[in-house]
Amino acid sequence: MTTLFVSDLHLDAVRPQLVALFLDFLKGEAAHSDALYVLGDLFEYWVGDDDPQAVGAQVADGLATLARSGVPVFFLRGNRDFLLGTDYASRCGMRILADPCVIDLYGRPTLLMHGDLLCTDDAEYQSFRRNTRDPAWQEQFLAQPLEARIAFAQHARAASIEHQRSVRPQDSGGDATKEDITDASPAAVEQAFARYGIDLLIHGHTHRPAIHKLVAGDRPRTRIVLGDWYEQESVLRVDADGASLSVP
Ligand code: MN
Repeated sequence: MTTLFVSDLHLDAVRPQLVALFLDFLKGEAAHSDALYVLGDLFEYWVGDDDPQAVGAQVADGLATLARSGVPVFFLRGNRDFLLGTDYASRCGMRILADPCVIDLYGRPTLLMHGDLLCTDDAEYQSFRRNTRDPAWQEQFLAQPLEARIAFAQHARAASIEHQRSVRPQDSGGDATKEDITDASPAAVEQAFARYGIDLLIHGHTHRPAIHKLVAGDRPRTRIVLGDWYEQESVLRVDADGASLSVP
């Protein structure tokens, strides 16, 4: 049997074919797995569990059906859906994990993260992250009317795309609808391996899917980066014998 990891689906009503692909994945491959881990950015944006958008309802139904069939579903918040709360998670039948957290993956302690915490070279983003994870900020934000929250999310997304361009001006000719996310800092990766004493790290966020073999603290380590679902599915499959990542 296999444990599945996905992240950065960025599900949104503007890409209904990707929503359909994910719902098919839940009914198909995921239904025959040991567990499903969603490592953040399941949604393009999330402004509160009270948002009545249809995509949220469809995904909740799909995940709840999977969970009811006996496949445990775990979710870790991303930088787009960090406001996803326990109400929505319980509608999905999924358990919210802390970012970072260590799980036992077929006997192998494994560190899971969304990945934005590793992008320490982007000081402006890390400051935004600290502010918006403050419970007082979140309480104040969630108390605003839905329309105002949606406007904030759209503004934050546009500002983030602009900011990424200013951080990496050499890539300014890229796809205007996608952010060019600053990559994980090698020092932050080394620190994570050392701090948690694990040899396997799985994260998403950077949209640079790969299995990296490296040596840190004189030990061989593996960092697996999940891919995004903007145009296709991207799934990491792990069983007792090892890992395989479908890299588009
Ligand atoms: Mn992300």
